[in-house]
Amino acid sequence: MTIKDIGQELAGVIGKCDADYVEAHLEESQTSHVVYRGRELDSIGRATAIGGNVRAMVKGGWGFVSFNDLNNLPERVALAVKQARFVGREASQLVAAEPVVATVSVEADRDPVAIPLAEKKQLMDEYNDIIWRTPEIQTSTVGYADSRKQTIFLSSAGSFIEQTRADITLRLAAVAARDGDIQQVGLSVGSRGDFSILQSYHDEVAHMAERAVVLLSAPQIKGGEYTVVLDPVLAGVFVHEAFGHLSESDFVYENERVRRIMTLGRQFGHPELNIVDTATIPGLRGSYQYDDEGMPATRTYLIREGKLVGRLHSRETAAKMNEKPTGNARAINHRYPPIVRMTNTYIEPGVVSLADMVGGIKEGIYAKNWYGGTTSMEMFTFSAGEAYMIRHGKIAEMLRPVVLTGNVFNTLENIDAIGDDLTMNQGGGCGKGGQMPLPVSNGSPHIRISRCLVGGG
Ligand SMILES: [Zn+2]
Repeated sequence: MTIKDIGQELAGVIGKCDADYVEAHLEESQTSHVVYRGRELDSIGRATAIGGNVRAMVKGGWGFVSFNDLNNLPERVALAVKQARFVGREASQLVAAEPVVATVSVEADRDPVAIPLAEKKQLMDEYNDIIWRTPEIQTSTVGYADSRKQTIFLSSAGSFIEQTRADITLRLAAVAARDGDIQQVGLSVGSRGDFSILQSYHDEVAHMAERAVVLLSAPQIKGGEYTVVLDPVLAGVFVHEAFGHLSESDFVYENERVRRIMTLGRQFGHPELNIVDTATIPGLRGSYQYDDEGMPATRTYLIREGKLVGRLHSRETAAKMNEKPTGNARAINHRYPPIVRMTNTYIEPGVVSLADMVGGIKEGIYAKNWYGGTTSMEMFTFSAGEAYMIRHGKIAEMLRPVVLTGNVFNTLENIDAIGDDLTMNQGGGCGKGGQMPLPVSNGSPHIRISRCLVGGG
């Protein structure tokens, strides 16, 4: 029996439950991976997994049961309903949803897992060799992972949605060392299941390794407030990490202080600033047709003309906050319930060329690539992967890694130029509530921030 057949049988069971709402997810996945630590092959293999979950709502309380085989499903449904009954003590609130019956197979023909492991290992060998060919490299990491997943979603309201998706990630890092000094540079790329996209990174990998070595002799920045130009990767991650997570309504709903700050209609930036989250763009890693509550994907403006105009919802948060649903409930796999997540989040392009943006700066910083960072409410600390001085309108010497620190709202307000060159970064993975890395993408054009605190890394 296929998981679709099992789903069809299950539909009869959950339709008859004594609960306000019941949904089930069934999932069958294949994965493969190749990991090198230094020159050594650390791990290589393939796996398949099957499983599912049932989520039930009674009087506002959720019951959730997940499983790694598809046996005894009626008992599991009964258990989820029993759990829900145990915790429910108010009215169930879920925004209305049209039942959907659909098969989404746009990527059914893409199966990166089916490509022989030997071919993937060969490519990783090539990349690792390029890194190790560079003098003064001390170590490297190379991590390739792919997956192909078929999911069935069904609900007591009559939805039955079959979706297939494929995903690939590749993360590389080169570490250079000299006289006890260590510098590291990384590269993260991803694709919606298209292996061929990953086959042409030889030049970039070489450049990455060379940069780690160049950093050993690069000067340290003199800390202070600078005009900073962010490249699309760093600006995209800034939008996701510093701002996007504050737009997730479960967080907003539960946190009174965030609710006060994130008041719809409030002016957060320049009238040219537009920030969007959408799962509707084909081919991006955060895209889908229906979310894990069976809601259609939408295009949601978070900031429009500088004003806060929207946020991301599950069916429950939309009902509780009396706002429109956005189709942003996602689960990383069948072991977890769907929660409010971003998809593809980006700043829309403006009209300023990079040359004009840099041209007006007497002394500033050009910060590129994401290296890491933390956020705590509206405060952020981000490490750029690559940084250069800007002197008299020109990009000048390379610097050691820099750290940008600030308040997200002041920073949005200080964006004074938005480039004409939107690029989406497909190398991202998002973590929330123990569910990571969820496939997302983010993007931006180059942006200029008029006053930003920059320190040494
Ligand atoms: Zn995230």
